[in-house]
This record gives sequence, C-alpha cells and structure tokens, in this order.
Amino acid sequence: MIDLHTHSNQSDGTESPEQLVESAMQSGLTTIALTDHDTTAGLARAERRAQDLGIEVVRGIELSARQDGRSVHVLGYFIDPNSTELQSLLSSMQDSRRERAKEIVSRLSRDFPIAWEQVELLAGNAASVGRPHIADVLVTLGAAPDRPSAFERFLHESSPYVVQLNAIPVSEAIRTLRAAGGAVTIAHPWGSKRGTGRWTIDHFADWASYGLAGIEVWHREHSVIHRRMLLGIADRLGLVATGGSDYHGAGKPNMLGEHTTSLHTLECLRTPPGEALQNG
Ligand code: AMP
Ligand code: ZN
Ligand code: FE
Ligand code: FE
Repeated sequence: MIDLHTHSNQSDGTESPEQLVESAMQSGLTTIALTDHDTTAGLARAERRAQDLGIEVVRGIELSARQDGRSVHVLGYFIDPNSTELQSLLSSMQDSRRERAKEIVSRLSRDFPIAWEQVELLAGNAASVGRPHIADVLVTLGAAPDRPSAFERFLHESSPYVVQLNAIPVSEAIRTLRAAGGAVTIAHPWGSKRGTGRWTIDHFADWASYGLAGIEVWHREHSVIHRRMLLGIADRLGLVATGGSDYHGAGKPNMLGEHTTSLHTLECLRTPPGEALQNG
C-alpha cells in the first residue's frame, strides 16, 4: 500500500520523521511520501529509518502556492533536496512563515495570554512554522479543546487574527519542483476547506502546460462525486490520479493509508516522461 501524502514534525505533523516511518510500517504501508510543508528537512532521517525497516520513502514536499488570491498546495515527488534553487526558495518561505506566525501571535496576544516564545517552544525544531503550532498553543491555554477547533474558532482564513501566507504562484511552484527533478501534483484541489469546484479544467490545463503530472483525487476532503469528476479531468488531460492520507500524527484525525495510490501511478511519477519507452 502506497500513501503519497504525510507530514512529520519538521512541519506541522506531530511525529518525528523516524516515528512517522515506524507508524507507516505498523499500518502495513510499503511506500510513503514524506511531504512536509515548505521543507525537506525530514527526508534524510525518514529515509534512514525506512532503510532499516525495509519500506520506501519517496522524497516529497508540499509547497504553499497561490492563484487568484487563493491558497493552492503543490506536491512534488522524487525531488532532489540538494537543488540550490529549491533550497533558496524554501529558506525564504520559512523566513516569511516565521514573520507571519509572529504577527498572528501578536494579534492573538491582545485577547489571549499567548507569547511567541510558547510557539517556538512547541514547534521545537520544525523548519516550517505554521498556524497548527499556534493552534496547539491555544489548546494548551485552554482556548480550544483541540487543533481543529482552534482553527474553526480563531485561525481560519478569514479570521481577524490571521495574516495570509506569502505564497508563490502555482506556475512557479511547478517550475521549481520540475527543475529539482520532481514530478508534480496538485494536493486536494477541491478540498472542502478550499471551495469545491473552484479550479476548472482550464486551470488544470494551464498548470499541465508548466509540467503538472497529476491530481490528488483520493483525499478525505473530496466527496465521492468530486473524486469522480476530478478523475474525469485527469483523464482528459493525461494526468495521473493519486491518493494520500494527509496524515499529521495527532494533529488531525487523518489515518495513515486511509487513501492510497496505485503502484502503476507511483511508477509513472517515478519515471519522467520520455524515459519510459527507452527502458521498456
Ligand atoms: P499554514 O500552513 O500556516 O497556512 O496552515 C495550514 C495548515 O494547517 C494546513 O496545511 C493543515 O495542515 C492545517 N489545518 C488547516 N485547517 C485545519 C483544521 N481545521 N484542523 C487541523 N489542521 C488544519
Ligand atoms: Zn499540514
Ligand atoms: Fe495541504
Ligand atoms: Fe498536507
């Protein structure tokens, strides 16, 4: 079983890269992609543990991008973490994430006894700081019972406490990941928190022209009918359809392996277009 969407505590998951791989093995997975938000910091550690346990870790990432003022998550697979272009983008994204998180905390501090130091302490060594870390501090302060409730009450996109993330255009995200040797897909494009049906076949066709390889179709935020429609779009455009759990450890109810990707699709992503025939 192959799960191509997971997070560790290098972004906003709650398990270390090693623990994540152990959990994946216990869940009966044979391959996982580690796709932390805007960082590759956990990949080497996850790969090392996976080698010991005899499962596969695909080098992945979930980049925060934007189109028409809306957030789009762009997944990259089989990326080269040593790409200097990718790393310089990530380091500036991580800096702006930190500044933005400080501003959110400063706004919250007018109404709650919250300080930036608490978020830093809780986020530990996470390379990418985000709203989930702030949510977890709000939970420890008793302002909300759990992370999802903290989002619903204080940290949703239109909350007065929230500042938009500085995100790059989708085209640039695709281009940078492709330049780093990656295969690129759009994460949960019609996710219930993002506005169902917002992106049309024209958007996907445009992204395909920049080298998009696939669409994440099987995801808990997509209804059955929307999965079918997205599958139709992928088919029409010659894109592959992937599935993943978007596991965040204890940070979200998502369970490892609750959505999966076929071996055939994994191999399509592994082999860049044009190379398949030569090896066949
Ligand atoms: P940020 O990257 O700071 O904009 O935070 C967005 C991240 O927060 C998403 O990628 C999710 O992992 C997480 N998130 C968003 N909404 C919720 C929710 N309702 N409950 C738990 N986590 C959420
Ligand atoms: Zn996340
Ligand atoms: Fe996402
Ligand atoms: Fe995710």
